Amino acid sequence: MPVVRKREIENLEQLSGEELEAFLDSLPEQQHTISDLIDFVEDELYENECNHSLQYSMRFMMDNRLDFPKLTSWLNENGGYCDCKVMEQIAPIWRAKFGDD
Ligand SMILES: [Zn+2]
Repeated sequence: MPVVRKREIENLEQLSGEELEAFLDSLPEQQHTISDLIDFVEDELYENECNHSLQYSMRFMMDNRLDFPKLTSWLNENGGYCDCKVMEQIAPIWRAKFGDD
């Protein structure tokens, strides 16, 4: 079995206080912006199939003029290789920690 590097986001649940602050500081965008991105992708995938790219994530980033190289690499590092993976790998952990807003 290949060694799979532990995704940073898997630790999110355990973080609090200064560690959580440090995590939030390390994010490529504000926490609420990433929550909005997840909501946007979820809405789009409700009506559309994932084409196994980050097309809806990218659209959100462009519409909001976000730093998409940074944000895309953050998504990839955390298992979000395409829009449906963002929902599968990142959204549940993110929402468990921060709620829906
Ligand atoms: Zn996909």
